[in-house]
Amino acid sequence: MSAVTRGGTPWTPQYVEAINPKNCIGCGRCYKVCTRDVLTLVDRGEDDDMDEDDWDDEDAKAMMTVKNPLDCIGCGACGRTCPKECFTFVTA
Ligand code: SF4
Ligand code: SF4
Repeated sequence: MSAVTRGGTPWTPQYVEAINPKNCIGCGRCYKVCTRDVLTLVDRGEDDDMDEDDWDDEDAKAMMTVKNPLDCIGCGACGRTCPKECFTFVTA
């Protein structure tokens, strides 16, 4: 799927596909830049699939997840701001 800028230049939206839970440090940077309420921070509960040893930062008590994937407009801002390169994207 393609889109156009206000000036009419074509560009290809990059929609959020996933956030790597192993790398995420729960910093919230991506949440702050998303204007579409796509993301949400969750606690790393005891029922999580991973042990603390599996996380990059064992002090990270929360991680970002994709709550409303169908609301994503594909701006890519979340991936640009993430210091841990957690995001993967798809074009449609
Ligand atoms: S690509 Fe844009 S709209 Fe989609 S989750 Fe990231 S910041 Fe939000
Ligand atoms: S910016 Fe990256 S490391 Fe920070 S909460 Fe979002 S996904 Fe996790």
